[in-house]
Amino acid sequence: MVIKPKVRGFICTTAHPDGCRALVKEQIEYVKAQPHAANGPKKVLVIGASMGYGLASRITAAYSFGAATIGVIFDRAASGSRTATSGWYNTAAFEEFANADGLYAKSINGDAYSEEIKNSTIELIKKDLGKVDCVIYSLAAPRRTAPDGTLYTSVLKTVGEPYTNKTIDLKTKTVSDITVEPATEEEINATVKVMGGEDWKLWIDALRAADAIEDDAVTVAYSYIGPMITHPMYADGSIGKAKDDLFAAAKEMTAEGKAKAYISVNKALVTQSSAAIPIVPLYIGILFKVMKEQGCHEGCIEQMCRMFNEKLYSPQVLTDDENRIRMDDLEMQEQVQSEVDKLWADITTENIGECADIDGYFEDFYKLFGFGADGVDYDADTDAEVCIPSCK
Ligand code: NAD
Repeated sequence: MVIKPKVRGFICTTAHPDGCRALVKEQIEYVKAQPHAANGPKKVLVIGASMGYGLASRITAAYSFGAATIGVIFDRAASGSRTATSGWYNTAAFEEFANADGLYAKSINGDAYSEEIKNSTIELIKKDLGKVDCVIYSLAAPRRTAPDGTLYTSVLKTVGEPYTNKTIDLKTKTVSDITVEPATEEEINATVKVMGGEDWKLWIDALRAADAIEDDAVTVAYSYIGPMITHPMYADGSIGKAKDDLFAAAKEMTAEGKAKAYISVNKALVTQSSAAIPIVPLYIGILFKVMKEQGCHEGCIEQMCRMFNEKLYSPQVLTDDENRIRMDDLEMQEQVQSEVDKLWADITTENIGECADIDGYFEDFYKLFGFGADGVDYDADTDAEVCIPSCK
């Protein structure tokens, strides 16, 4: 079939297999061309491996260090007139390239929060790899069923006070004020249950109990801090409470000797998850313009390649005073943020094209679903049914 993007709100309901494949290939080529740290991980589990930061982590582990990777994904194959999810196509492409390059790569498709998926992942590790030496925890999910069967739904709200600031309507590309209401206590707790550290700890405990993780293994989960304008929505909001809990989990796991656990504070980027946060996409549009003009813009693959090679696997793990890896170092530079502040104050619907890189934002948004890749004929017929080699 000929596959075109069908956008609804902040998601696209179609994905392009050839585009996803081309974009995975592009990320692989990028990593291959970068200098690599002398020592790196050899057997890596990536939880949330099909998109965004998780996919970039998997590609970097494989192509910087030749690591064997197992990816846990939660994606849908094509059926009838529906395409597969882009995460499905990305994973199929990654496995195909990795296998052709002689690298071990297998994936487990299902809910990473469930005990069943933890068990089948551990079974696969034991059978094929023995133990893993690195676990990347990169889930971004709207809901979680906890082990006791309770379903928790996360919210993207403030804590305490409502917050009003500018936002972009992604459909009409207009700027207007939005007021984000505070989350209730129950909503905050639910967000912590979904995006906090509990499930990360359950994974590491399960791997330890099964003797499927090396004694000196490293584990990393991802967070965001950002500038003041985003704080009420993010760092000080309901998601920020969950990230505080994730950080506490890292400290706890390290202190208890379960793993060397780190939080990497990453750059704000266009992913399926960040598109859903009010105010943040407009900030990202302005940030992209400034960072591209100043020559320091990065995407997921540049961030993860630098994280693994220059921070996590440098002779000593490079962290800030609080033991966090700071991949937002370039985003938070004074010369970047002062320029963002000026543009933020000035931006309106009328001058949006001058104040923000809206084209760049949408280019990245469409690429999440495999649209806009170089060298792909989007008018050509293509087969939407693609197999993930290890998920047959
Ligand atoms: P993403 O939406 O691109 O990727 C999330 C991944 O999690 C996808 O592969 C998805 O399939 C998978 N997933 C979701 N629910 C799952 C489940 N139940 N079981 C198995 N897999 C599941 O998101 P992202 O932006 O790459 O986010 C990854 C992490 O990075 C998150 O912790 C996020 O908060 C953090 N982060 C994101 C940004 C940003 O700007 N995008 C910045 C800093 C940190």
